Amino acid sequence: MPKCAYACYNKNEEVRMSSSSGGIYSLLAEKILEDGGEVFAACYDRNLEVSYRKINSIDELPDSRGSKYVASHMGNVFQDVLDSLQKGIKVLFVGTPCQCEGLMSFLGKRYDNLVCVDFICHGIPGRIPWRKYLESMKNRGSELVGINMRDKTSGWSKGKFCWKMTDNFGNTTFQPQSENFFMKGFIANIYLRPSCYNCQFKGIERKTDFTLGDYWGVWNIQPEMDDNKGISLVLVHSQKGQKLFDSVSSSIVYTNAFLDKAIKYNSPILSSVKCSDNRKVFYKRINEGEDFIKIMEDLTRISFKDKLKIRIKRSIKNIQNF
Ligand SMILES: Cc1cc2nc3c(=O)[nH]c(=O)nc-3n(C[C@H](O)[C@H](O)[C@H](O)COP(=O)(O)OP(=O)(O)OC[C@H]3O[C@@H](n4cnc5c(N)ncnc54)[C@H](O)[C@@H]3O)c2cc1C
Ligand code: SF4
Repeated sequence: MPKCAYACYNKNEEVRMSSSSGGIYSLLAEKILEDGGEVFAACYDRNLEVSYRKINSIDELPDSRGSKYVASHMGNVFQDVLDSLQKGIKVLFVGTPCQCEGLMSFLGKRYDNLVCVDFICHGIPGRIPWRKYLESMKNRGSELVGINMRDKTSGWSKGKFCWKMTDNFGNTTFQPQSENFFMKGFIANIYLRPSCYNCQFKGIERKTDFTLGDYWGVWNIQPEMDDNKGISLVLVHSQKGQKLFDSVSSSIVYTNAFLDKAIKYNSPILSSVKCSDNRKVFYKRINEGEDFIKIMEDLTRISFKDKLKIRIKRSIKNIQNF
């Protein structure tokens, strides 16, 4: 079992609003940087590809904030982390559970100066679908130069967040995540990396110091915590992690989370998602050079039969609730 499970958020409103959940990653990272350490995290590059970067100052932290639903380029990050650790520098590494496990097996032993942070992981889309999505947007006259897949302008609770997209003319648009074609394919598990459908890194026991996640369902479980701005579910796994959490706790609003209930709203904590029946069709059509958005329009169109099924289900639920 984790040492502690917290429902929490960063008291700094600006940082919290620019983070995906409660902005706890930023607080942990700030503390490491204040202590003269380094943070290794995934950031967008100029082409909106996601790559690991070494962060040395608090000014650079905003670049790393926010969930990016794209597999990151790792480059030499494991070697860079090792070099810093061997020099005695404090390091915070943040990544998917498989990246964290990969780092720990590369290092081969525990380092007291390493804080390892993973997150609850639905799975991660490959880089090809992402590139094809960007191409498809460009062909439609919208060359994207900035992206936030978890903008909270329209809220966070019940998954009400938006995609914020900036194009090369400086126009900014907000699109509900439920209407964005890249996000639809991600949620429908059409183009996750193959290993994500049989992930070996699930469970509430981790070798990392922290697991961060969205506290989905908090609006029902602990509604007094939910203000629609993002609540984190934070699992602390180690003494080192607890010490770091305690050292920043004056900057956090927190209470104990109900982990058993939280898991019911967030199945990727414990189990892999099911591969979509449309995966093969998607890759066949994309490899034949078809347009990404056109394919996704076809694959995510709800048939008349399915619409009818949804309506009947809703009516039955309404009658039951009556
Ligand atoms: C692909 C993916 C799937 C996720 N699935 C779930 C889920 O099913 N349930 C759930 O509760 N939470 C999930 N999360 C985690 C959640 O979205 C938040 O990232 C987490 O709660 C931390 O939020 P925060 O506000 O503390 O920090 P944020 O500021 O949002 O920081 C997020 C941290 O994650 C890192 N990160 C972002 N994208 C990537 C990436 N592609 N590769 C490696 N590191 C990355 C950033 O560098 C940053 O350090 C997922 C995140 C990702 C990236
Ligand atoms: S679901 Fe598992 S294999 Fe896929 S990115 Fe997440 S941790 Fe890695």
